[in-house]
Amino acid sequence: MLPYTTVEEAEAALNRTLTAAETLWLKYSANKSDYLLYCHNLPLFFLSFSLVPLPLIAVELIPYFRRYKTQPHAQTPLPQMMACYMNVIKTFIFCVGPFQLLSYPAVKFIGIRTGLPLPSVWEVSVQLAIYFIIEDYTNYWIHRWLHCKWGYENIHRVHHEYTAPMGFTSPYAHWAEVLILGFPAFLGPAIVPGHMVTFWLWFVLRNIEAIETHCGYDFPWTPTKYIPFYGGAEYHDYHHFVGGQSQSNFASVFTYCDYIYGTDKGYRYQKKLLAKVLINELYSLYGK
Ligand SMILES: [Zn+2]
Ligand SMILES: [Zn+2]
Repeated sequence: MLPYTTVEEAEAALNRTLTAAETLWLKYSANKSDYLLYCHNLPLFFLSFSLVPLPLIAVELIPYFRRYKTQPHAQTPLPQMMACYMNVIKTFIFCVGPFQLLSYPAVKFIGIRTGLPLPSVWEVSVQLAIYFIIEDYTNYWIHRWLHCKWGYENIHRVHHEYTAPMGFTSPYAHWAEVLILGFPAFLGPAIVPGHMVTFWLWFVLRNIEAIETHCGYDFPWTPTKYIPFYGGAEYHDYHHFVGGQSQSNFASVFTYCDYIYGTDKGYRYQKKLLAKVLINELYSLYGK
């Protein structure tokens, strides 16, 4: 809870005028406990997970967009999409939710702050970039471990039930996997703690990124294509397409871990092969 309740008190404490964003934050958070602010993560996850994949459902029903599908012949019927959604919501209510509510002491301990001043756009951007890099690296190694015989058969098998992923499948996994992969997500904020607003933004962006990675469409206009070393939908789709035997494309966000540790060889070989087939088809089409 903030140590001041009015704009005047806050301005006197900071010795400057509040920005519009800070005034808004003060008015919103002044009478809310830090615990309640932390709990905002729950509706934020629920809303982003429920709303972001909705346009993808519409896209699935329009034949024009089939040309952008990562697996053109794969189609997920609406009832199956809804079953997947309900399954994730169940895991969310009985596993993620209680864990989030109980993990507040850890958040307090690492020093996520809720007061003023608010962080600058630059500070938020740098922290988010660090969180993504830490999450990607840690997730890479946990994901590799989940592909060992025991990890796959007992835990990770559930996430691979969908060989052609779609938006709602991003957090579709065994409850133990959902909890285990919470660790890489918390590690960034634990190492470089920031403001609660950054903390919220991080979890929402990570959620949206996972939905995009699992959406099953490789749209040429996706802005994430401009992020260096970004994996994206087509990259992670290969991991699902190959399935349980996959020893390729483990990273959650970027491509460099797979490149450095040599776990993208199958994917690169397949891309080369597809390019060759395409060139041969073009040659035969135009008689050259
Ligand atoms: Zn996997
Ligand atoms: Zn996946």
